[in-house]
Amino acid sequence: EKFRTGMARTRNSFSEKMNNLVKRYRKVDEEFFEELEDILIESDVGVTTVMDLVEKLKDEARTRNIKDSQQLKDVIVEVLSDFLAKSKEETALRINPHGLTVMLMVGVNGAGKTTTIGKLANRLKSEGKNVLLAAADTFRAGAIEQLQVWGDRTGIDVIRHQEGSDPAAVIYDAVQAAKSRGVDVLLCDTAGRLQNKVNLMNELGKIKRVIEREVPGAPQEVLLVLDATTGQNALNQAKLFRQTSDVTGIVLTKLDGTAKGGIVLGIRHEMDIPVKLVGLGEQVNDLQPFNADAFIYGLFA
Ligand code: GDP
Repeated sequence: EKFRTGMARTRNSFSEKMNNLVKRYRKVDEEFFEELEDILIESDVGVTTVMDLVEKLKDEARTRNIKDSQQLKDVIVEVLSDFLAKSKEETALRINPHGLTVMLMVGVNGAGKTTTIGKLANRLKSEGKNVLLAAADTFRAGAIEQLQVWGDRTGIDVIRHQEGSDPAAVIYDAVQAAKSRGVDVLLCDTAGRLQNKVNLMNELGKIKRVIEREVPGAPQEVLLVLDATTGQNALNQAKLFRQTSDVTGIVLTKLDGTAKGGIVLGIRHEMDIPVKLVGLGEQVNDLQPFNADAFIYGLFA
């Protein structure tokens, strides 16, 4: 239900355009497909994905001899569902059932890392897990304090050093604390300054190596946080982060603030990384597992 409400802007915009399209073009022809391409591009699906998608639709229409646009709508649902098929199996977060799980949040400043950690921490805690936070964004002014606010709000401890200190040292301390306190899940915030990509990627690499060395099998998740309202920029960031940090999943934030949720399709198709969680607002309960079926059927509601 939360998912439905949060996606309302995308859903309304897309379904309205689709309904208009079907009304205007009763017959499935070249013009119909061109208009459909425009609608998908306006929804931020991404050009490459749109081309592949429409190609596939044309194939299906030909093979099944579909001439009526209303009928083709059902096929569109099918094809989109196919596009996200893999996502359906992969949305669950990887948790180590026998000990400490470590999750790393990466992404550029302002994407929503800190907020997502707060929401996720609260969700895990309410599932009965013992959670700890690591404030390893020691670079951005106020980042540590902001994480502390979430810690206070959710009643979860934060391991922190001073601003400007070595993030890998924070992570090391946090891991030791997590081990000695019998923590189930350690959530690590990281810096996201993109001005110096090489430094940032080196820093993330170092953090990851500390985790790998100290906790065998960890990190279970490296979650890339992307702001859905930044459209194709988000896709470019994803490509950049993927090069260095073995991203295991994507958190797409601020879906409530955009009518362009089509970015979900582009990410899945071009990146082959599952969208695991979506941010649908600024409140503590506004983080939901990504539901591919609800997403697609929602588009045509
Ligand atoms: P960080 O720099 O990556 O840690 O980003 P923050 O967590 O500080 O988030 C940046 C801004 O985006 C804050 O004002 C958040 O409240 C807001 N924000 C984060 N997630 C969402 C979301 O899902 N929906 C909305 N509407 N705002 C969000």
